Amino acid sequence: MEDLRKRFYEKAKILFDDQVYETWIKPVSIEITDNSCQVITPNQFFRDWLEENYFEQIKNIIISLLDKEIQVYLTVSKSKKILISPSERLHPDLIQRYTFENFIKGKSNEFAYAAAKAVVDNLGGLYNPLLIYSNVGLGKTHLIMAIGHEVYRKYPDKKVVYYSSERFMNELISSIRFEKMHEFREKFRTVDLLLIDDIQFISGKTATQEEFFNTFNSLYESKKQIVITSDKFPKQLQNIEDRLKNRFEWGLTVDIQPPEYETRIAILKNKASYHNIDLPDEIAEFIATHICSNIREMEGALIKLLAYSSLTKKILDLSLAKEIPKDFIPEEENTLTVEQIQKTVSEYFQIKLTDLKSQKKLKTISIPRQIAIYLSRKYTQLSLNDIGNKFGGKDHSTVIHSINKIKKLIETEDNIKKHIDNIEKMLTKNR
Ligand code: ADP
Ligand code: MG
Repeated sequence: MEDLRKRFYEKAKILFDDQVYETWIKPVSIEITDNSCQVITPNQFFRDWLEENYFEQIKNIIISLLDKEIQVYLTVSKSKKILISPSERLHPDLIQRYTFENFIKGKSNEFAYAAAKAVVDNLGGLYNPLLIYSNVGLGKTHLIMAIGHEVYRKYPDKKVVYYSSERFMNELISSIRFEKMHEFREKFRTVDLLLIDDIQFISGKTATQEEFFNTFNSLYESKKQIVITSDKFPKQLQNIEDRLKNRFEWGLTVDIQPPEYETRIAILKNKASYHNIDLPDEIAEFIATHICSNIREMEGALIKLLAYSSLTKKILDLSLAKEIPKDFIPEEENTLTVEQIQKTVSEYFQIKLTDLKSQKKLKTISIPRQIAIYLSRKYTQLSLNDIGNKFGGKDHSTVIHSINKIKKLIETEDNIKKHIDNIEKMLTKNR
């Protein structure tokens, strides 16, 4: 048991960023019994944040260490438990908090919200499939799960299945491997409501698209409801077959825009009150002013603040907000801009600024570009999409790819690490 714990932390340390590891993994403890495992967190904010951000990975680590399927639960350390009234029927695959009640409506999302509600009242009707698209962190998963919760609650006989398209693919692969395709098909073709999150993930995955296409047709023909989310407008999804994209447009396609200021404030207040905390206006305003384009990041800032104040017993006020945000809200005078980073990187490598933003694949250009993207992520608060835009309109998966690539190179190639150290020194000097 001790040994297992040790291996868990070792593995997690490798898998997560240092900062994530220190803040979110180190403070949890692990209890394992014969057929279940509890991941114990210091308080409720912590639990929710883990559930929504790192729980999948934590589960995977535990399962890989035990080498068997085991139920993994997130719990709150007994002394810190706060009460949240449980709703009557909870679907095991849906995040508890992602309900319509907890979804704040504003101009940016009202159409998507109305469509989601309409689907609940008219399953398999006119809005089939419903496709919701938006940039990351704007409420797609929340809304698609809200549909799931509501149908699950209202219609006990209906079979509700929520899958990320990634999990759909993984299960497909293992079903093929273990000759369980029959069960796989049976499972998906007998649902009343199929919720598929983040469809963009199956781009380029031909076999998965084929199987999903067949699932789609079979459900559609029997008038079963399908809801899909995507990080792009369907037509702009690359490497997804046209016949599939066509079908996505048979029903209704709605988008979610970044929330306006008032909605951001309302979301923060709602999130705090969910935890029985009365959030001072000045703090809500402070956070809503600094983070605009990603609700997840905004909530992350709030949660950190709540967790920090509850762990240190310090009063939740603006001075506290200004005290801890260093790693999530940049202090104005210390903020680096993407432009400064681009300029410094291109000077350092002696390449043209326009090349840095180009599509050129030449290594002497692509490596500096990826380093600049990596540093932009590290030192600015911009979203992946915003960073992509500043590099000549790259999409967010390209940005993620660059960041991950450089992270790896830093560990394996000393000279890359040296370059980055040098550039970071230049950046602090020029600040
Ligand atoms: P996406 O799937 O688009 O990346 P999520 O659904 O995961 O985004 O949302 C990110 C976070 O923002 C979640 O914690 C979610 O509850 C919250 N959120 C998004 N939109 C709203 C909203 N309108 N009201 C309340 N919370 C929201
Ligand atoms: Mg999502």
